[in-house]
Amino acid sequence: MKYIITLVLLFSVYNSFSQIKVDADFEGGNIDVLSIVDSTNTIVVMPALQTSTNTTKCWFYFKVFDFNKEKELNIDIKYDYRVMAPENPVYSYDKENWTKIKSKSNNRKKTISSIFTEDTVYFATGFPYVYSDVLNYTNKIASNKNVDTTTLVQSEGGRRVPKIIVADGDNKDLVWVIARQHAFESMSNFMIEGFVDYIISEDSLAREFRKKATLHIVPMMDVDNVAIGASGRMQKPIDFNRDWNPESHWKAVKEVKSQIEQTQNTNDYRVFIDVHSTFPGATYPVFCYFNMYKGTDRQKNIDRYWDIYEQYANIRPTKLSETKFKQGNIIADEYSSGLDCEKNGIPCYSSIEFSFTHECDWNTRTDGKPWTEKSLCQMGYDMGKALCKYITE
Ligand SMILES: [Zn+2]
Repeated sequence: MKYIITLVLLFSVYNSFSQIKVDADFEGGNIDVLSIVDSTNTIVVMPALQTSTNTTKCWFYFKVFDFNKEKELNIDIKYDYRVMAPENPVYSYDKENWTKIKSKSNNRKKTISSIFTEDTVYFATGFPYVYSDVLNYTNKIASNKNVDTTTLVQSEGGRRVPKIIVADGDNKDLVWVIARQHAFESMSNFMIEGFVDYIISEDSLAREFRKKATLHIVPMMDVDNVAIGASGRMQKPIDFNRDWNPESHWKAVKEVKSQIEQTQNTNDYRVFIDVHSTFPGATYPVFCYFNMYKGTDRQKNIDRYWDIYEQYANIRPTKLSETKFKQGNIIADEYSSGLDCEKNGIPCYSSIEFSFTHECDWNTRTDGKPWTEKSLCQMGYDMGKALCKYITE
């Protein structure tokens, strides 16, 4: 607590005595100001919210104003871990249109230096996707006749955790998709929007899918940490994605488990996907997924799914091997995997065809192009289409 008070005081002191001002007091905002030097147009900052419940500093989102627009603005961003310091942070003058910007690495800090032409400029680790964005998206699609937007649960912080169900009729095969178990991984939600956009579309494959299957999707699991701009990663008492043990802590995890168990009593539970975004600091493409099913029929199913995806998208994520049960906790894809279930005291979903963790990338596609909000949505759209083809063929 003392640490936080000191930071708040520093923040206030710098903001009251400096010409340059920094502010993160808005939805999803987060930064600590370490120093401001007006004469060189320089600020030194660090992702904040290092508290007992937020143990990885990897998300920043703040605005700078009253700087000298005639000179380069220099922003030094300090980090604990290099892989969490973004290769391509983003800036915007309006919080709507974001542009990637190169940063230079030096001694556990990233530096952005550029001329910014407007009075106020916003910076973030990657394209922000905040809590109200997911509420706006669910409202936008709510009138679709095949969509049921509902509440999974009220979070520990009293926020509504939205859930989307897509179907055309009853008695269907089951597909479950969740995202944002790690609150800072904002790239995931652009993928999710594209994914849902395809599945609710009037394309013939999507129509066939909706007659055969029901999609249950929870686009933002850790709404509380997204809302305050905390990373959520490795948080105490437990990271969301380590909480899929026989006894779970978080309400959203408990409720997804309970609903999966209920819905699969009467329907074939076929596919589970947990959407993440890897390290913002990766210097190579990290568009990937984890494969637990080495050499089994379920691996053939996953391979088939990505073969279909590749036909639509012309790129393919890298296959990584899973570090199964190493942490001593069960993670979401393991919970639904149908593997080692008796041993681990979790339900044995024998009908599951594949379960995997999918990792969206912050920086570069496997074909060398940069990921943008649009191409992240397109990735989701193609993944949705591949799922429809896989389920209905
Ligand atoms: Zn993650």
